[in-house]
Amino acid sequence: MPELPEVETIKEDLRELVVGARIESAEVLDPGLIEQPSAEEFTRRIAGRSITGTRRRAKHLIVELDGGDSLVFQLKIGGQLLLVPPVEEPETALMLVLHLDGDRRLFLRDGTRFSRARLLDTGELEARLASLGPEPLEEGFDAEYLRRALSSRRAQVKPLLLDQKVVAGIGNIYVDEILYDARLHPRRKANTLADGEWEALHAAIRSNLAAGVAHRGTTVRLYRDVLNQPGEHQNYLRVFEKHGELCPECGGKVIREKVGGRPTHYCPSCQLENGRWGEQELRLV
Ligand SMILES: [Zn+2]
Repeated sequence: MPELPEVETIKEDLRELVVGARIESAEVLDPGLIEQPSAEEFTRRIAGRSITGTRRRAKHLIVELDGGDSLVFQLKIGGQLLLVPPVEEPETALMLVLHLDGDRRLFLRDGTRFSRARLLDTGELEARLASLGPEPLEEGFDAEYLRRALSSRRAQVKPLLLDQKVVAGIGNIYVDEILYDARLHPRRKANTLADGEWEALHAAIRSNLAAGVAHRGTTVRLYRDVLNQPGEHQNYLRVFEKHGELCPECGGKVIREKVGGRPTHYCPSCQLENGRWGEQELRLV
């Protein structure tokens, strides 16, 4: 599923390739895609509008239209936005085709059909985005914010990082890599983290997401950019889906377990269940 780096890549591609284009018509091939308004109103309201900009908030891809409306996409598990004809896919995976001027078409295809789109006015967009946590690559996001937001929480650190109200844009691939870099066990309770561990977590969030953006996203299976090219960050993963392989740091085995209902990959030697303090206490006993 596209996370912050993948949506950021798609957003930048669209900024370069379709800003300034006019949407001549929309073909909604799967009405289940359109959450708001009705598919009929969506089709009617979008025809003839020009694309004035693109932006990203959390995992939302926002295409700004003249007149103030925004087309908001949530690309779920297999969602792809493609500016090239998806010739190798069956017609049934297509959910939406936007016909652009200059004979170009923007396709949304998703074999899993979980992707969603909305056409929102300014107020509706603001309401939709209001509950999201801070953008982790922006300046205001620091270790102190994480400590303040989470240090009294007794929940496990992994599900907390996946909570879009705590921090925006992190999903199941990057969170495992982040926790590995921060040497935090995914089941660690947030209220047991030491000061230095908040710093390590913050640094790991920034470095992993920035590297994901620099590598144009992670293609484990389905993610493609708008020109149908895979990303490259999958070549830099250390633990995600590396269970049974050796940890690059200690040579121990990476394992996979469910944490908070999600498949989770980590190194039990580098990411101690009780943290370093817990280990020290055990030695003292
Ligand atoms: Zn290790």
